[in-house]
Amino acid sequence: MEITKEEIENIREKFPILRRKVGDKDLIYLDNTATSQTPVEVVEDINYLYTHTKANVHRGVHTLSQEATDLQEHTRRRVQGWINASSFEEIIFTRGTTEAINLVASSFGQRFREGDEIILTVMEHHANIVPWQLLQSRTGIKIRVVDINDKGELDLDQYRSLFNDRTVFASFTHISNVLGTVNPVKEMTRIAHEHGVPVLVDGAQAAPHLRPDMQDIGCDFYVFSAHKMYGPTGIGVLYGRKELLESMPPYQGGGEMIKHVSFEHTTFADLPFKFEAGTPDFVGIAAFAKAFDFMEETGIDLIAEHEHQLLEYTTEKLLALPGVKIYGTAPDKAAVISFNVGDAHNYDVGFLLDKLGVALRTGHHCAQPLMERLGIPGTVRASFAVYNTFEEADRFIEALKRVIPMVM
Ligand code: PLP
Repeated sequence: MEITKEEIENIREKFPILRRKVGDKDLIYLDNTATSQTPVEVVEDINYLYTHTKANVHRGVHTLSQEATDLQEHTRRRVQGWINASSFEEIIFTRGTTEAINLVASSFGQRFREGDEIILTVMEHHANIVPWQLLQSRTGIKIRVVDINDKGELDLDQYRSLFNDRTVFASFTHISNVLGTVNPVKEMTRIAHEHGVPVLVDGAQAAPHLRPDMQDIGCDFYVFSAHKMYGPTGIGVLYGRKELLESMPPYQGGGEMIKHVSFEHTTFADLPFKFEAGTPDFVGIAAFAKAFDFMEETGIDLIAEHEHQLLEYTTEKLLALPGVKIYGTAPDKAAVISFNVGDAHNYDVGFLLDKLGVALRTGHHCAQPLMERLGIPGTVRASFAVYNTFEEADRFIEALKRVIPMVM
């Protein structure tokens, strides 16, 4: 399966930002791991909703409010279908992956006690570390960490060995935002469940590139962000198994998450609304449905295949350049390439590449423990989306060839 030139041109047409310049250079956008660009369908929908259907959701009997509510709930069912959740009640809208993990740590975490242990991995984004540390400072739980091997794969033997009578939770990323490693989350979930331990999978980097199937993976919680999957900013999803969500206390209090409020006694709304206090970004949520349309029309398999080809093509060219070292060489890898050039600082490389129109990420990528494990302050990171082309990969390599003599 290969994306044709015509197909990629049609896709790129939908992303006007790709036609802009940086200085006098054509933009080459290779920072898709941080956020992907948004197709016109989504942007136009946001515009349409603000100009035709802006009304608060779940609150009014009037037509606009009903329409806005229907649109928001349509997206909920779209998400449910996309990830194969059993019920729309298992789909909670949040501000992003970060808020979704904080929700689980704050709410589910209330049952953990001093000395209980949770398992994380060394490749986690700070969003899947710090909420657990905050919980640790409140409860005295212990955090155990799974290491990686030289290729950037998790040490599954060590993972297995970390489970004991005190283990109460495991939380790990589906795909590393630095190494690109695709973790065996189904197997890891199975191992955790053998010990009766619930699992959260951070799908922020997976949901844009594959179609995570909740029934297949079998995890208890799965989280992701719309802005990384061609959708609007400020929207995220928490999938949670219904019986667990039902057993959890609310995360925030406010409007919309209650059944009845009195100063003596307040009762809470049913799922999913129990976890959606206050006015959500209902315009963004409604428009998020168009991002699913885009991915479905393009074809998630085609997206994955094209990105994989870009990964292989660019990796080979990068490795032929003097002084380039790539971090993360797992055979099962997403289209993320973290690298350094000799002893050059990642920031210098990124800064000079920007002057040549290439937008990519530098630094620790919100994964400082991983950087410490790798013994480096940071990397330069190129990451691909379906709209990137082989010509862009070539131009990135040509730009890097110009930068290397300046920094080495
Ligand atoms: N988890 C992973 C693996 C990520 O890559 C990111 C963002 O880059 C996050 C969590 C946080 O996502 P957000 O900032 O959208 O909440």
